[in-house]
Order: sequence, then structure tokens, then C-alpha cells
Amino acid sequence: MTPNGIFVALFAVVGLAVGSFLNVVIWRVPRGESIVLPPSHCTSCGYRLRTVDNLPIASFLALRGRCHSCGSKISVRYPLVELSTGALFGLVAALFGRTFVAPQLALFSASLVCLALIDIETRKLPRKIIYPSALVTFLLIVAYCIEMGSFHYLVSSIEGFGIDIGIFGLIFLLRPSSIGFGDVRLAGFIGLNLGVLGLNPTINFLYGAFGFGSIFGIGYILLVSRSVKSSIPFGPFMALSALTSMVIGNSFRIF
Ligand SMILES: [Zn+2]
Repeated sequence: MTPNGIFVALFAVVGLAVGSFLNVVIWRVPRGESIVLPPSHCTSCGYRLRTVDNLPIASFLALRGRCHSCGSKISVRYPLVELSTGALFGLVAALFGRTFVAPQLALFSASLVCLALIDIETRKLPRKIIYPSALVTFLLIVAYCIEMGSFHYLVSSIEGFGIDIGIFGLIFLLRPSSIGFGDVRLAGFIGLNLGVLGLNPTINFLYGAFGFGSIFGIGYILLVSRSVKSSIPFGPFMALSALTSMVIGNSFRIF
């Protein structure tokens, strides 16, 4: 294996483990529970998971998706979150190599995976997740700038933050019923991250979020709810667009 191949594989394995942790975050943060204590347990019978029950993907397959103790079904979401986080980490490593943006964008991807799922389940985008992630992102960028002796990345990150939170903030002010303030906050977090990659990903994210949201929203109204008053959470479309823009946002310009 080439050094780059090893790096990508290593990142993907870390991603699987991070995905396993995200499952805990997705379940516990909206319920106001601690993400550290108690240790991982079956949510049906309270059985405390041993390490061997808690390995990403492998345990789910070995246990055939059931609790080792009570046999109740484990949601397929658990291995899917692990798998997608692992894939995203591998993708980030493959795209950005051994640069400072790799850990920053890996953290970004992980945050988006859990925020999107929490939004689908609870219609909330917890500040408890966005603020600490934004703070670590900011510190990573500052540390890199100090090491480089140039504040270019910090400036473009702050620009990205300003553009995305500005547009979402404006929409929130003009039509408060269309999005929530949590979406405005998330837009700022996304801009902070994508800004490092430049202006194009920052702006393409906006097109993508409203594009994905509108297509899904129209389809949902026509096929499922048949009412224009139905509301769908917007966070997942923002996350989808942000990840798409992270990968291909620099390869084209719409504006
Ligand atoms: Zn159980």
C-alpha cells in the first residue's frame, strides 16, 4: 500500500469509530443525557455492551442486528452512521491528503452527519454540538495560520462564515416561517468550514441547500402530504449540500 493509501485507510477506520460515538451523541444529546456516562448499553434492556458488542459494523453483523442480551432489534441506523462516517473520513483523506484541512473537514463531516440525523428525529440542531465543533474548527484554523505565518485561511473562513450566515439570517428575518434560527446557526458553521476551501464552495453550498430542499419539498407535497403547509426539517439538506460542496464545490461556478 502507498503511504497515501495507508493514510486514507487509517482515516476511514478512525471514521468508523467516530461514527460509533456519533450514534451515542445522536441518541443522547436530544434527550439531555451525558455522552460519557453511563457506558454504552441496550436502550431496551439496559444490558451494558462489552467491547466485542460495540465494534463498528462487525458487532452488528455478528449479532445479526439484535441485542446480545434481550434479542430486541438494533436499528439499522447504527451501522449506517458508522459506515457513512467511515466513508466520509476516507473521502476527506483522499481529497485533501495530509494537510491541516483533513482533520478540520473530518470533524465537519462528523458534525453534519449527527446534526442531520438529530434534525430529522427531533427537528432540532443542538447548540451543544454546533458551538464546540465551531470552536475547535476555529482553533484548528488559527493554529494552522500561526504555523504558516499567514492569516489567509482565517480570513477566507471568516468570509465564508459571513456570507452563509448573512444569507440565511436575511431569509430568517424576511420569512421567519420558512427556516428556524438553528438553520441560521448551522449556515454559519458550514460557512466557517467551507470558507477555508474558498468562495466557490461557500456560495455553491447555498444553491445546493435551497435546490435540494425545494426538489424534495415539492416532491413531498405532491406525493406524500398533499398540503403546502407541511414542513420538513431543512438541516439534512444543508448537510447534504455542504458535503457535496466540500467535494465538488470548487470545480464549478454558478454565479
Ligand atoms: Zn437488550
